[in-house]
Amino acid sequence: MSLLHVSGLTKEFGDLVAVDDVDFDVEDGEFVSILGPSGSGKSTVLRMVAGFEEPTAGTIALEGEEIVGKPPFERDVNMVFQDLALFPHLTVAENIGYGLKQQGVPKAERRERSERMLEMVRLEGYGDRTPAELSGGEQQRVALARALVNEPALVLFDEPLSSLDRKLRQHMQTELQRIQTETDTTFLYVTHDQEVALAVSDRLIVLNDGGTQQIGTVEDLYEDPASRFVADFIGDVN
Ligand code: ADP
Ligand code: MG
Repeated sequence: MSLLHVSGLTKEFGDLVAVDDVDFDVEDGEFVSILGPSGSGKSTVLRMVAGFEEPTAGTIALEGEEIVGKPPFERDVNMVFQDLALFPHLTVAENIGYGLKQQGVPKAERRERSERMLEMVRLEGYGDRTPAELSGGEQQRVALARALVNEPALVLFDEPLSSLDRKLRQHMQTELQRIQTETDTTFLYVTHDQEVALAVSDRLIVLNDGGTQQIGTVEDLYEDPASRFVADFIGDVN
């Protein structure tokens, strides 16, 4: 059984078919990217997995259980957004522990788990700062720590590195891979950036116009592209 099984996933906004009959699986421990140009439906797929958007049709099963219709907080899934969405008035430790607090985890345990996550993302000693006192890359790490602290089955990322400069982005790519391995978490990662996706992913789902163009490893996409679109799109790395 796959960790995540998506079948016939479709989303219409009025006359627009934003996601068109998409099928894919993500296995436990995999790093899978959804890659496609702007407007291809990547965020909409992710938002349906997270529960922020309901599908027009299709099913989404997590660990064998249908999750369509469940509210986001009842899904064993966390999401890291492009704009990070850290709470500016809370400290770093409070940001990381926020979800645990909602779940009724006692303060001492929240602090202990926040500190462990800060170590994981290499921000030891940053717990009492506020987000405004951190660099962009450091804020990124806090958002990641917050998404991992309650040990979800699946972490979703929507273009989390796109606001960083190239050098920092490359560094964070490596960090994401390390953290994924060390925490043994499954990542589903949305990006329009071929370079990032090809560098980090075990497998990629290539979307265009709401439809799946190809699903495969980096090697599959390079050596046996399913369409002209895939060949052009993944060849377009400078
Ligand atoms: P991507 O993340 O690949 O850039 P999106 O999933 O955001 O693409 O969008 C796919 C298509 O659906 C786009 O044409 C977008 O304009 C449209 N869309 C996304 N969300 C909405 C919405 N809430 N209402 C209407 N159209 C939407
Ligand atoms: Mg998007």
